[in-house]
Order: sequence, then structure tokens, then C-alpha cells
Amino acid sequence: MIFSRENIKNLNISAIIRDSLDEGNLDSFLFIVPTNRWARTFKKELIENSPNRSSEKINIETLTTITQKLLQFYDKYNLISSATGYVFLKETIEEAEIEYFESYKNEVPDGTLEELNNVIGEYKKEGIDSKRLLENAEELSGYEKSKVHGIAKIIDIYTKKCFAARSLEIGDIYFIIANLPQEKFSELFKLNFPNVGLIYINGFNEYSSLELKIINKLSLIYGIKIFINLDYNTGNEKLHKHLTTAYESFIAYDYNRIGDINDHTNSSFYLKDYLSQNFLRSVKKKEERYPIIKLEGEDRYKEIELIARELKLLIKQGIKPHKIAIVFNLIKEYSPLVREIFSIYEIPFNLSDRYSLDTIPVISSIINFLEIEEEDYYYKSFFRGISSKFLSISDTDFTELLKISSELRIISGYKNWVDSIKTQLSKGEDPELKNALKGIIYVHNTLKPFVEPQSIETFLENLKNLIQNTGLFYKMLQSETDNAEKNVKALSVFYESIYEVLMQMKTYDGESKLYSLSEYLNILRTICKWSRFNVKERSDYGIQITTLEEIRGLDFDYIFIGGMCDGDLPTKQNSDIFLYGDVKKQIEMQFSKDAYKFYQTLSMYKKGIYLSTPSAGKNSNFEESYLIKALDRILDITSKSAADYSDSIFSKKEYLIEAGKLGNEKYDIFYGKNDIIDDKRKEHLYNEIKIDQIRIDKRNENEYNGVIGGTDLLTPAFEKVYSITQLETYAKCPYKYFVERILHVETIEDPDENITSLEIGSLLHTILYNFYLEILKKSIVLKNCSAEVFNYVLNLIMKIGNDALDEYKFDRVKSFYEIEQIFGIEGDREKSILYQFINYERENENEFAPSYFELEFGMNGSLPIEINDVLIKGKIDRIDIKENKIGIIDYKKSIAQVVKKDIIEGLSLQLIIYISAAIDILKNKLDNEMLPEFVSYYSLKYSRKDFGLRKFPSSRDKNDLEYFIEISKTHIKNYVESIDKGIFNLTKLEGQKKPCNNCAFSNMCRIAEYLPN
Ligand code: SF4
Repeated sequence: MIFSRENIKNLNISAIIRDSLDEGNLDSFLFIVPTNRWARTFKKELIENSPNRSSEKINIETLTTITQKLLQFYDKYNLISSATGYVFLKETIEEAEIEYFESYKNEVPDGTLEELNNVIGEYKKEGIDSKRLLENAEELSGYEKSKVHGIAKIIDIYTKKCFAARSLEIGDIYFIIANLPQEKFSELFKLNFPNVGLIYINGFNEYSSLELKIINKLSLIYGIKIFINLDYNTGNEKLHKHLTTAYESFIAYDYNRIGDINDHTNSSFYLKDYLSQNFLRSVKKKEERYPIIKLEGEDRYKEIELIARELKLLIKQGIKPHKIAIVFNLIKEYSPLVREIFSIYEIPFNLSDRYSLDTIPVISSIINFLEIEEEDYYYKSFFRGISSKFLSISDTDFTELLKISSELRIISGYKNWVDSIKTQLSKGEDPELKNALKGIIYVHNTLKPFVEPQSIETFLENLKNLIQNTGLFYKMLQSETDNAEKNVKALSVFYESIYEVLMQMKTYDGESKLYSLSEYLNILRTICKWSRFNVKERSDYGIQITTLEEIRGLDFDYIFIGGMCDGDLPTKQNSDIFLYGDVKKQIEMQFSKDAYKFYQTLSMYKKGIYLSTPSAGKNSNFEESYLIKALDRILDITSKSAADYSDSIFSKKEYLIEAGKLGNEKYDIFYGKNDIIDDKRKEHLYNEIKIDQIRIDKRNENEYNGVIGGTDLLTPAFEKVYSITQLETYAKCPYKYFVERILHVETIEDPDENITSLEIGSLLHTILYNFYLEILKKSIVLKNCSAEVFNYVLNLIMKIGNDALDEYKFDRVKSFYEIEQIFGIEGDREKSILYQFINYERENENEFAPSYFELEFGMNGSLPIEINDVLIKGKIDRIDIKENKIGIIDYKKSIAQVVKKDIIEGLSLQLIIYISAAIDILKNKLDNEMLPEFVSYYSLKYSRKDFGLRKFPSSRDKNDLEYFIEISKTHIKNYVESIDKGIFNLTKLEGQKKPCNNCAFSNMCRIAEYLPN
């Protein structure tokens, strides 16, 4: 249906254009189309059809570009970029202090911000300003009323900001242009398009009220003929509902309805007509000439895989990829899937979804680097900032730096980094440390220009220098070709957006204002989140991936419409919290709009249309789109699923999966066996698969599951000296022992400024050792001692403790609680571990006398103990003696208990082996045969109920210690024999005993594959 003020019966626009092309006067036309892509494609088409292939005089605009052009001759305003818009909107929300946002403590979530931004855009396009909102709010009450007041306030402040910065929303531009006096409007138009005598408006699937007003103004320009092609069918209201306002407006503006006698000779014209009449309704007999194929994927990933397979079939038939398009209503979720799957299937494609700046590593590397200074050299930010492959930051080995931060316990602070490393260097030459210091200083010098608050000009200059000095350009261009192009575009959009936003801020805040690095970074982060960009598409290359919105006006032989599930298409009805009144009604037309876009795409049918559906999402199942059901009522739809492609292979990945099923030769390799994989690689592959199967086969022992066998490469196991901890590690996981003790793989812990429990334990050991040496020297017995002796020893232990504390050099502020627990909470000595210790020793029923402390064997020059041919080293915290009986005590800062089952299973060896060692050592020292009486952990926990000895065996146990000693000796012999035989399998322990939680080697050992459950 064509609307015009002309009094003619029919219009054949194709014929008119053809004639104009021949006569070379196409500059008398102005085409207005809905999208830039349509404008570009149409222009290309016209140039190709013009006799001299000239583009000079072709006027093709969108309503956005034409109104901007008119405005340029009227007043100097620019269209606001999305990045600037979001920066202003965030500032507005902070300034407006409206009740609705009070619940967001720190920041309005991105989703809400985006929703608000869209709604403001909708209001503006409809010409609704804050004043009109407030007027309408008079009819409301309570929460609704205050909500509308809040939105009005935001629109008001936001609009003022935009005008002050001379950057306007498209709705504001429409408003200015639509409200110009007709005379001025006509004058501006003539200045821009002096030769135009005919305007043809085509392809719009909706019009806002301001757009209708602008079109009417165009129609009233003297000497201009205007034709508006409105795809509207009065006989199918459900499909065209959202265009009813436009239709009625054109009638109200007194336009004539004239016939469209375009050159619609192709069959799709019939289909368009048929759909326009019947879609969303029922027919008696389906139209069979336009069969449609539906691809049913189990989920979105598999849906795209099905599309990829179908595409390969089409390409094999000789269809050129650029003659095929895949469209989505909501492309965001599908873009990454298409990128991944089409790369796997080696399908060339042109994806028109835009990239967000914050997903581009080269951009993140700049922001992360600046964040080093912002976060005061916090070790995590520091490593994140310097580890980018795009920055050349001296030749420092930053893994080494990570190790240094852990060893020197450096958490943050530039000065702290430098001082700590310098102090360490003062103890001796260390080239790695020296190099690390050089690297840190280099980073600091590079960031120095950003430290002080600075003007916008200075910041932009510093940023430019930073990008140049860190070699980012050079590194960026070295990346793969596709990425290099993307990176260069991202960097230029990044810089342009920053420049634009900061210049707007300068206009708004004044030139002299200085901002801190944090303020600049907040702006940069917002810009990155909301700036999107496209990489230039290659002409006539690859499958076009785009949206239903963008495909309008383009030309393809085959179209796939993906994501055909309710929620995606049609989109979920939005209960938009910010919407109100007429705009809400407009948005509620969503179903009609979506159905209409779908219908428009179907109408492009040339050689084939495919629809594809996912059945399930991450958390729920999808309902097939209602639009498919509606289409099924009027056209033939045939379904295909994964099973329909199962006799062929479409990609190398599929080949590898099938090859993984070993010996499976029944498949006809889709594009030639040898093209996919050569025989040599195939042999390797089969070999790798076999090895993996052997590795996870628990029935056999071999080098792939840890049994490497005896080898000359390792020191003979019985020649080594073992600590009990090492043997306990082997007992729990032989592989872990292998990695830690034979390969010597080290893990780097996060630095910790606070005192660790290991250090507390070490401090307490030192205090108790020195204390007992002192009182033994003075022949003081603690058991049942007098109050006077008690006071003396309390003073003594406190003094010894404080001396030891001085040696340890802990940060007393950060570790004050742990220190108070040892010496007295809030200065009260009775509330201390040391007090509890001497009190416990005084009152304890134990008849044994503390006799030996920190007794070492196999360490610091002392000889190891030999047990069952195994050489053992260790240190016994304390030995208590009564006559010829001995007990072993191990101090612990935690609660620990000797568990009989663990001893029997060989998982707990320490105390039992230690008492055996003690008997050997004392036999030589005392020339006396000592008998084992007990072993015990001594809990030094602050809590009174947990404090003290837990002896083993308990009096109820029928076995004596000698029995357990024999068991443990056998275990250690077995372990060392296994080490000698090269047995280093993954742990076989299960349930609570499985030692894998928090094990740093879990990725390396691949236990998850070995024990999938
Ligand atoms: S994760 Fe488990 S199996 Fe793997 S090395 Fe650690 S303890 Fe052993």
C-alpha cells in the first residue's frame, strides 16, 4: 500500500528508478530506508545498475541521518554516542537521588541501567518529555506516582546534561526538527537536497509519533512528491496491529492511497501477499509451494551445529556462502556460539553483531595496567596489570615476582614492594630479586604521570604516551590478522569514545576541573561496558549472520531463522518497570512487531527458508515459538534433527570424535578422508586414545597410571632419608609424593600479611622449648607446685615468650588477636595460652616427667634412625619419662587426636614411629631399655575445654603400643619398597579420607577423568 499526496492511481517505483538511472538524474530522488545496512546495500545495487557506475548523486538516508543533516544547518548539535549516554545517565542517577534507586547501595545494575536508557530513548522518540510525564502523573497515586516523578526527574537532568554538552539523543533531534516551522524545515531540506523532487520511503516496520510528524513535514515541502510504502493489510489486523497508528495517521494527514504496481514478477511476491493475508490465521488448505525446513536442536549449541551441517550440504551443492543468511531476533546469545561452531566446521561467515569494548583483551590490558596504581599495587591487580601479552614491561620474570610477593609477604603498596625487596637484597646478592625490583620501578615510573589529579587534556596526553611507551601498537599488530584488525578498530573506538566523553565533560564541568585516576578509570570502565563496534564486513564473503531487524532490504537465496523459541521470538513480554502510559501500550505491541519482522523475513523467500529451534536452555526447557505453530497452519514444514545427519561427518572435530570410538570405519567421510586427517596423524591419534584408555583402566598397572617401574634415573629408595610427613604423603597419594618430592614441583601461595597458624605453632614451640630448658636447669617441678613457684614460672614464661616474639618480628597490629591469645586477652595474663599451659602442667594427673625437648634425628648433623632398613629423620617435641617408661608428646595449635584406624591403615605414622625412634635414641643415651607407654598430641588451643593432652592408646584399648609400632614399621617398609619399584599411582582412598580437596595438583593429575564421579 502506498501513501502519497499525489493524485495518481498506481506507482511503479522500479520503472521510475530504472528510467532515472538511464537518464542520469537519480539525484532528483531521495530514498529513506530504515537501516544503514539497507542504505549501503541499496546504494551498491544502484551503482551497479547505473550506466556509468557513479555514486555521486544518489541520496539514500535513514530518518536518523536525514534529521542530523537538517540539524547541522540549524544548530550545532551532535548525536550522542552510546558511551557518553551511559556516562551521563549514571551521573544523572547519582545526582537525582530518587527513591526508586535507593535500594542499590553502590551502583545501579547494568541491566536496570540499560532498561532505563532504552525507555528514555522510547519516550524521547515519542516526544514525551518530563513535563508531559508529570502532567499525566496527576491521575496516579502512591508508588506509581512517585515512580513517574522519579523518571521525570531523571529525564529532566539527563536532557539538560545532553544539551549542555551539545550531544543529543536521536529523540531530541527528532523533537527539534519535527517542531520547526514548516518554512524553516523546507529551507533546511532544500539546503541539503537542492535537486530532490521525489522522496520514496520504504521498509519501515514501525513509526514513532515524531517520525510521522517529520514525514508529514517532508510531504509539505513545496515541489516535492512523496511516496510512502506501508506494508499494511487491513484484512489481517493481528499481524499489522502495531502499524495501525501509522496507517490512521496517514489517513488523517489526508494522504491518498495509491496502488503499488512494482515489477513483482518473482514468486516471493505471491508468498508475501499470501502471508500478509493469512499469517496468524487459519486457511482451509495449506500452500505447498514454499516448503520450510525446521531444524530441531537439543539446545542452542546443538541448534547451531545442525545449521552448520545443513550449510555444509548447501555449500557442497555449489551455493555460494554469501547467498545465505542466518538471522536471529536476539543475536547476543548466539554470536559466541556461531563464532565457535562455524570455526570448527570451517564455514566462512560475516557476523554483524557488534563487539563490546570490554571483551577486547587489548583494551582490558590498558585499564588493568592503570588499575595497578588505582589499587595501590595490590598484588592481584599488579599481576593482572603486568601480565598482558600486549604490554612490553621490561624483561622481568613476573612469575618470579609472584613467588617473591608470597615469600616476602607483600600484599600492596609500591613503597612496601620496594622496601621489602631492598631489605632482602641487603642480606645478599640475588639477581632475580634485583631484576624484579627493576621491573617494579619501571612500572611505577610508567604510571607516575597518572598519580596526581589532572585535567582532561593532561590525562589524554598521558594516556596516549602510555599506549606508545608500552609497545602496545607493535604487539597488537603482531596478533593474528583477524584479531589485529579487530584490535586496531577497538583501540581507535576506545580512544575516540574517551575523547568524546571527556570533551563533553569539559564542556559541562569547565576546563579547570581536575579528576583523579579513579574518576578517570570509572569513566573508562563505563565507556568500555557500553561502547560497541563493528569490524568492517568483507563484501560478498561468507554466510551473513545478522538480526531480523538488519536483514530488511538485503537479498539472499537461503535464509535460516534461528532461536525460534518463545522468549526469543516472539520476545518475552516485558513488564517494564519504567514504562508508563502510551509508550507502555506501544511496547506492549511487541508480539505484533515480532510477528511482523518474522513475516517480513519469510517474505524474502527465494530458494529456501529454514527455521531452527533449541529445546532446552541452561536452566529450563524452551517452548517452540508460537510463530512456528502459526506458520505450520498455512505452510508445509518438515522437521530435521541430529539423527538426519548421522551418516556423514561434517568437520574435523566430528571426525576425531568418531575416530575416538576406535576402528569405526562405517562413516563416509564427508569431504574426503585424507582432507580431514592424514594417515600419520591418524596413527598418532589412535595411539593417544589407546594410552588414555590404558591410563584410566584401573585393572592394569603401567607407566600411564603411575607405575613407572624401577629406574636408574631415581636415587635408590632405601638410600634416601625420609621424614614421616613425606611417607604420610605417599601413603595418601603416591602421585602427589612423586610430584612434590621427586619432580620438586613447587606451588606459590598467596602472600599473607597476617601471622599464619604455622608461625603461631612455631612461636609456641620455641617458647615452650626455652621455658622447659630454663626450669629444668633450675630444677623446678611444675606438678603440684606452690603459688609462689607458679607466679615465678608465669613471669618466666611470659618473659621468654616476649623475647621470642621480638625475634619473630610479626606485624603486631595486624596479628594482635593471635598475640593476645598467647600472652593475655586485653592484658589479662590469666586469659592466655601460656597461663593455661603452666596451670595444666601443674594440675595434670600425668605421672610422667617432661625430660627431653625438640629431640632431633637425621637433622642438623644428627644421625637418622633406621627402621626396617628405612632411614628416618624427624624432631620429637617432647619426651616424658617415668622410670623406664616413655611417652611422646607433639604440640599442636589445633585439636588433634590419634586415630587407631588410621594407624592400622598406615595413614597416621608420626607419633608411633617417633616413639620407636625415641626408644632407640634413649637406649643409647641412657643405656637402658625403655618401654613405650603412650603417644599424645598436646592441644595448645586458647579454648580451655580443648586444651591439653589426648593420649593414645586409651586405657580401654586391648592392644599395647608395641603392637601399633610393629604395624607402622611394616607400613613404612612397604611404602619405601613401593617407591623403589616406581609405584606412583593416584590416590586410592575414598570418601572422607580422599586427600584431593584443595590439592594444588588436581589439574595436573587429572583425577577427575580417572574417577569421574
Ligand atoms: S588431587 Fe588427589 S590424586 Fe591428584 S595429586 Fe592431589 S591428592 Fe593425588
